[in-house]
Amino acid sequence: MTQPVTQPAPLIDPFQRAITYLRVSVTDRCDFRCVYCMSENMKFLPKKELLTLEELDRMCSTFIGLGVRKLRITGGEPLVRRDIMTFFQGMKRHLDTGVLDELTLTTNGSQLTRFAEPLFAAGVRRINISLDTIDEAKFAEITRWGRLKQVMEGIDAALTAGLRVKINAVALKGFNEDELFTLQEWCVARDMDLTFIEVMPMGDLGNEDRLDQYWSLDDLRARLAERFSLVDLAERTGGPARYVQLKETGQKIGFITPLSHNFCESCNRVRLTCTGQLFMCLGQEDMVDLRAPLRASEDDAALVDAIRNAILLKPKGHDFDYSRQVADGQMSRHMSHTGG
Ligand code: SAM
Ligand code: SF4
Repeated sequence: MTQPVTQPAPLIDPFQRAITYLRVSVTDRCDFRCVYCMSENMKFLPKKELLTLEELDRMCSTFIGLGVRKLRITGGEPLVRRDIMTFFQGMKRHLDTGVLDELTLTTNGSQLTRFAEPLFAAGVRRINISLDTIDEAKFAEITRWGRLKQVMEGIDAALTAGLRVKINAVALKGFNEDELFTLQEWCVARDMDLTFIEVMPMGDLGNEDRLDQYWSLDDLRARLAERFSLVDLAERTGGPARYVQLKETGQKIGFITPLSHNFCESCNRVRLTCTGQLFMCLGQEDMVDLRAPLRASEDDAALVDAIRNAILLKPKGHDFDYSRQVADGQMSRHMSHTGG
């Protein structure tokens, strides 16, 4: 197994941002078909295109050797990838040696009754579970193939295993607006944080749908403020999330607003797809193939060079903008490919 080789210089992009956070999509497949994420008859990649589990380990270990301190595993649905626990168990060695601060994942929750305990044993302590509604019929509508009961059991299993859970809900106008307080109360009763995400113009479902569904988090925040006193938290993750605390409940609520607010100046992350492409920015098409240098040699030198060169291409920011009433900067790729 590849051990991280500590490099003299960490990854610093041309705008002096240190890259310390890697998000890795381990599969493009999923057991759900959320309407804003995938079409119902998604065509998935042939298996040979995917990085093997060993290659994923080598890739992540190389990034860790270059100063990455936080890994988030995503997909597609990461927990439907065969033998994915082998990968998590492998990454545990970097937590054990202290070179990695956090190993975490974003999941739809459907497989957690099986995997919550093994994840905890592999050193995972916090997970994000995506859930837009706690109404059974609406859940079936938005995920097309999902069953709410299975996810609820998964959430219970995660909490029982000792994992800290954050719920991520995509804010959708006319869909879960009426559940704002229901969701908030349901989360506080389980001591779970809650983050809302603005719907992004990804995929091929057409601009119109996304525009109709766009519910500005400024509006959502104003609705929350009608019932609670919101205290802005200074906490920054280097990502697009901003947090408030509800004074009355102590609960933390996050807002991920890639569209209405510019957060790029503090961006510390890059994204690796399941085929080994590195995207330097969620909102830009620029990417660098890392699979070829990885496969070209057992020695990591070419891979390290390719990573360093890729980081030099990280753009200053992106250009999603709904305010022009056309989804300027619409991306043709799917979230399930870059991992959200
Ligand atoms: N399958 C896992 C899950 O659903 O948590 C991980 C991958 S999923 C692509 C990661 C996150 O992206 C989810 O929270 C999902 O809600 C979000 N997402 C997908 N498509 C989106 C879109 N068009 N706009 C905003 N968020 C989106
Ligand atoms: Fe699957 Fe997650 Fe996309 Fe939903 S959002 S289809 S659960 S990858």
